[in-house]
Amino acid sequence: MTLQQPKSMDECIYFSNRIVGEGKIKAWVLKEKCPKCGKGLMGKPRDKKTGKPKIRATEYTCQECGYTIEKQEYEDTLTINIEYICPHCGNEDELQTPFKWKKIQRLNQETGKKQAINSIRFQCSKCGKDIDITKKMK
Ligand SMILES: [Zn+2]
Ligand SMILES: [Zn+2]
Repeated sequence: MTLQQPKSMDECIYFSNRIVGEGKIKAWVLKEKCPKCGKGLMGKPRDKKTGKPKIRATEYTCQECGYTIEKQEYEDTLTINIEYICPHCGNEDELQTPFKWKKIQRLNQETGKKQAINSIRFQCSKCGKDIDITKKMK
């Protein structure tokens, strides 16, 4: 399997490149074509004055026909591409999985308390252990 690499950040809904312990994770979600007209890419609506995408918008809009979908509904249909080096065994692999954040209980290293963190969890193809992509913590 060869994943489609993003040519620029503009093509991504989500992009993350991080070091996890001894391992590494690169993950990205590509914008997909509008389900209505099939021509435009779905993206955050742009500010009419500045032309910049409204990052905090809660919907995605087609650049061609203006079709709009609610953010969560659209993101639920997407796939996240992941390239990783397993932090447990050093295995290098890539995979695709649904772009769905789930609350996963993790131990916060700083406070020592358990907390639920939005994560995308996948399993290493070699050792089978869980690897989590966590949403950035504040
Ligand atoms: Zn469209
Ligand atoms: Zn592994």
